[in-house]
Amino acid sequence: MLDQDFLAQQRAILEDKLRRYLAPESGDQPVELALKRRDAVPYILGALKKLDLGTYGYCDDCGEVIPLARLELVPGACRCVECETRFSNARH
Ligand SMILES: [Zn+2]
Repeated sequence: MLDQDFLAQQRAILEDKLRRYLAPESGDQPVELALKRRDAVPYILGALKKLDLGTYGYCDDCGEVIPLARLELVPGACRCVECETRFSNARH
């Protein structure tokens, strides 16, 4: 179980990201960045939902705990590194 302070901190980061990603785009934004942001939104929403459900920090695929270092690096992570690698390999 992750501690409440950490969860609150991750929620704040995710909500802040979401707000920025959904903000009206400025005209001088590179297209790649806009696409990257749009791709990130479902992940952020998914992570916020997991925070609500109390499953945040657990891998969607194998149910293992996602390492804190990974969550700090990628607050919207919904899979452990192993499953994420498998997932993105399967997609390409
Ligand atoms: Zn996993």
